[in-house]
Amino acid sequence: MIIDLTNEQKEIRKAAREFAKGEFDPLKAIELDERHEFPRDLYKKAAELGFIGLNYPEEYGGGGAGILENVLITEAFCQADSGIGLALHLAFLPAKIVQQSGNEDQKRRILPKVASGDYVSAVCFTEANHGSDLTRVDTVAVDKGDRFILNGTKIFTTNASYADFFVVLVQTDPEAPPGKGMATLLLEKEEKFSKNGTMEINEMPGKMGLKMVSTGEISFRDYEVPKENLIGEKGRGLINFLNFVDESRIEIASQSLGIAEGAFLKALSHAREREQFGKPIIDFQGIGFKLARMFGDLMSAKSLIYYAARMYDMGSKQYKTLIPMFTSIVKYHVPEHAKEIIDHTITVFGGYGYFLEQDVERRYRDNRIVEVYEGTVEVQLNNIVRTLKTINLDFLKEMLV
Ligand SMILES: Cc1cc2nc3c(=O)[nH]c(=O)nc-3n(C[C@H](O)[C@H](O)[C@H](O)COP(=O)(O)OP(=O)(O)OC[C@H]3O[C@@H](n4cnc5c(N)ncnc54)[C@H](O)[C@@H]3O)c2cc1C
Repeated sequence: MIIDLTNEQKEIRKAAREFAKGEFDPLKAIELDERHEFPRDLYKKAAELGFIGLNYPEEYGGGGAGILENVLITEAFCQADSGIGLALHLAFLPAKIVQQSGNEDQKRRILPKVASGDYVSAVCFTEANHGSDLTRVDTVAVDKGDRFILNGTKIFTTNASYADFFVVLVQTDPEAPPGKGMATLLLEKEEKFSKNGTMEINEMPGKMGLKMVSTGEISFRDYEVPKENLIGEKGRGLINFLNFVDESRIEIASQSLGIAEGAFLKALSHAREREQFGKPIIDFQGIGFKLARMFGDLMSAKSLIYYAARMYDMGSKQYKTLIPMFTSIVKYHVPEHAKEIIDHTITVFGGYGYFLEQDVERRYRDNRIVEVYEGTVEVQLNNIVRTLKTINLDFLKEMLV
C-alpha cells in the first residue's frame, strides 16, 4: 500500500466505496449528465451518512477528520462515477473558505447546514478580465458602515443556479496596489439574499464535461450585504483565497485520481477479456506496456496525494513552508497523468471507447476541468518555480534524502 492508513480511514474508504456501489446507478448517471441535473438526493444521502464535511470539527456537524479522509471519499466516489463524484465534492468544497476564515457566528450558521446536506456552496472569484490573475477584481464593494454595496459580474461560478450561499471576492479599495484592498463576503440564501439591489444568475451553457453541475455568471447591481457577512478581515480577501486553494487543491486532485482509477480498472478488464488475432489484447506488447505505465502513473499520483494530504493534516512546521509548492505539485501532476491514463483507456477500448456507454469518454471530459479550475496547470508550475528560485538548497537536499 502507498501509505499506511489508520483502521478508521480504511473504514471510511470502505463505506464510501459501498455507498457509491449501492447508490451511483450507471443509467441514472447518464440521465443526470444528459439532463444537466445536480443529484441533490444523493448529496443529502451522502451527508446523512457523514461523507460531507467530515473534516469539520464536531461542533459544526463534522466528524473532526482531516483532508486525507475527504480525499479518500472523493477518490472512491469519482472512481465509481466521474459526474456524480465531482458533483458531490464540488457541492461542499467551497464551504472550506468559511471553515478556514469565517468567524464563529458564520461557521455556526453555515457549516452544520453543509454537513447535513441542506446547503450547497459556491465561490465567486473569477471574472471576465480576471482569471488566473486575481490580484485585482472589478467587482467593487463600497463600505457604507453597516453594509457593503456590491457592483460587478462574476463568471464560471460552480453550483451557481442552486447554491444556498456564495463567497464572493470583491475589491473594497480600487486604488490599492495589486493583491491589496480586497475582501471576501458571504451571501446567504436564508437571508433571502439582499432586500436591496439585484443579484442575477445566468447559466453558462455548452460545457465540455462536468454536466451535472451548474456553471453560471452572476451579476450584482447595487446589491447590499450586511457588514457581519465580511469573512475575515477587510483587506485580506486575496489571502483568504490563497489559503483556501492551498488546501482545496489537494482535494481537487483526488477527483482526478478517482476518475483515472475507474478508467484504469475498466481498461484492464477489457484488455484481459477482449480477444483479437486469437489472443487477449493485453498480450500485445503495445497494449500491455500501456497498461503497465498507466498503473505506474496511477500509483505515483496516489502516493503523491496521500502524502500531501497527510502532511497537510499533520501541519508540521517544515511542511507549512512548503504547502503552496506541494499543493501545486499535486494539482498539476495528478490531473495531467489522469488525462493520459484515460486517453490510453480510450485506446484500449478501441471504437467502443468513443461511445458514452463504456463510461470512458465522459471520464475524459470530466477530468479535463481539474487541470483548469482552482488554478490552471501553468499557474501551478509558476508557483513551483517561484519556490524553487528561493528555497534553501540544504533544506531541499535534506527533503530529498
Ligand atoms: C467549469 C468551470 C468551473 C469553474 N468554477 C469556478 C468557481 O466555482 N469559482 C470561480 O471563481 N472560478 C471558477 N472557474 C474559473 C477557473 O478557475 C478559471 O477558468 C481559471 O482559473 C483560469 O482562468 P481563465 O479562464 O480566465 O484563463 P486565463 O487566466 O485567461 O488563462 C488562459 C491561459 O493562459 C495561461 N496563463 C495565464 N497566466 C499565465 C502565466 N502567468 N503563466 C503561464 N500561463 C498563464 C493559463 O494557464 C491558460 O492556459 C471555473 C472554470 C470552469 C471552466
